[in-house]
Amino acid sequence: MKKAVFPGSFDPFTLGHLDIITRGVTLFDELIIAIGVNSDKKYMFSLAQRKKFIEDSFIGNPKIKVVTYEGLTVDFCKKNAVEFILRGLRNPADFEFEKSIAHTNRDLAPIETVFLLTAASTSYISSSIVREVIKHHGDFTRLVPESVRIT
Ligand code: ADP
Repeated sequence: MKKAVFPGSFDPFTLGHLDIITRGVTLFDELIIAIGVNSDKKYMFSLAQRKKFIEDSFIGNPKIKVVTYEGLTVDFCKKNAVEFILRGLRNPADFEFEKSIAHTNRDLAPIETVFLLTAASTSYISSSIVREVIKHHGDFTRLVPESVRIT
């Protein structure tokens, strides 16, 4: 059984993440979306909100699981018998950053990182831009899935 993890902060979940997950899940038997918990980081959305936004987008999809984790992604992989890490690439800056993480991960454990290029239509979207639009009361709804709603 081919299991992959798609790790991230998802603060909040965006159409870019949705695109990578929707295309990535076709490559694996199971895709675990793992929300990293970093106690040093300040988030706009609580862990429960971030988890719910993602879960609500994939209701009824048995291949997708949403979990939270602390610590190194490779340790999460070892504990859960996951062999692949899925990541999205938007631009050369993402590539350089992801390359060093993937090399480090492969030094630490025999885990392959699989990269998907973003869809052209969502390649400009980032969680930080979405947070900026929200902060200034702009229309963020065109950047995120329908499940991401602020009440
Ligand atoms: P992190 O805190 O690890 O940067 P993010 O939640 O921002 O986590 O991103 C998780 C993953 O989703 C990363 O692989 C990132 O490259 C990818 N990603 C983020 N935004 C997009 C986008 N617009 N299109 C495709 N992939 C994206």
